[in-house]
Amino acid sequence: MKITDIECHVLLAPNYNPAFTSSAQDSFVVIVRTDEGEFGVGESDVNPWIARMCIEARGTHTMSLCARDLLIGADPLDIEGLWQRIYISTAMHGRRGAFIHALGAVEMALWDLKGKVLGKPVHALLGDSPRDTVLAYASLQPNGGSFEAYRDSLVEWAGRAKQLGFRAVKAEVTMNGPYAHAGLHESYDRHTEVVAAVRKTIGPDIALMVDVQYMWADAETALRTLRDWAEFDLFFLETPIWIDNLDEIARLSEAAPMPIAFGEWQATRHEFAELMDRGKIGFAQPDVGRVGGLIEAKAVCDMAKTRGLRIVPHCWKTGISISATAHLAFVTPHCPFIEFLPPELSEDTLRRELVAQELHMERGSIPLPQAPGLGIVLNWDALRRFAG
Ligand SMILES: [Mg+2]
Repeated sequence: MKITDIECHVLLAPNYNPAFTSSAQDSFVVIVRTDEGEFGVGESDVNPWIARMCIEARGTHTMSLCARDLLIGADPLDIEGLWQRIYISTAMHGRRGAFIHALGAVEMALWDLKGKVLGKPVHALLGDSPRDTVLAYASLQPNGGSFEAYRDSLVEWAGRAKQLGFRAVKAEVTMNGPYAHAGLHESYDRHTEVVAAVRKTIGPDIALMVDVQYMWADAETALRTLRDWAEFDLFFLETPIWIDNLDEIARLSEAAPMPIAFGEWQATRHEFAELMDRGKIGFAQPDVGRVGGLIEAKAVCDMAKTRGLRIVPHCWKTGISISATAHLAFVTPHCPFIEFLPPELSEDTLRRELVAQELHMERGSIPLPQAPGLGIVLNWDALRRFAG
């Protein structure tokens, strides 16, 4: 079997809003096709125009070859060998960042394809003894351009997530800092007010995570607010400090009254080694596409296990990425939840429409999938309609 084509799809929701802190408004989807008529589908959370260029750009010498050329004609079932060959032969493309994120979509598509060819679900190719169910947490990104609208939208969605049966929710509480939603600029006390309102809404029995998206400059500033958050019993706090300040991240991890989670932007297992060993994080959050694909994500899970850390993968995309993340979680016992953007609690049309059939989920729990590959069916009409 040989790879005959790599389709790189740049997708954009027609109603996208650049002031929103949501990368689910666009997507990079890769379809790998073979000479035997099989195909696999993958996705990554990366600027899709850059990602397409990463895969298709011409190469001129041995350490900077064209990824697409390396893929065409290759055996699609030798995923690890192929990934390594591309990683080495494109070393001067950057070795991290967008190129690895883009390669992750290709790698995910190869697993979907391999599963279909062998008639096995992806989790069965990744490991033995899968568990029966994986729990998803509802990831909630409020809308609204004022403090009151933002708070009320988040509280409403948290209440609906509880009604839908989710046993965990994550609130994006970002009204300040580089990632501030819709240009908001609110005091840290108002962030405390929003977290308190969400906790009150969901009650004490649902796990609550909070994401402040790189809001604070250093550990000391963060702690002034976070000491007040001990009473909210957070499952973890996501990305409180800018990602490059690893020593500050370590300082905060040691002093904060809740575990600290990072990893959504990291590419390759090597960036996670730094985050775990120097940043001293409590939860690692590999994003399957961005980290470089399922093999890299699995390596990160294994590294976390060795260090006694837990995994809660990042996933802010469509049913394609959610499926890949779930398959990984089925063979990762130290992964208590996966991130899940509920279509009914999301403004993002791509999330709602790109995948016609995704993994079955009921009341926040995904039963072990048996269908070959990722087990999803694309909405081909949506793929055409959202071409950006
Ligand atoms: Mg985040």
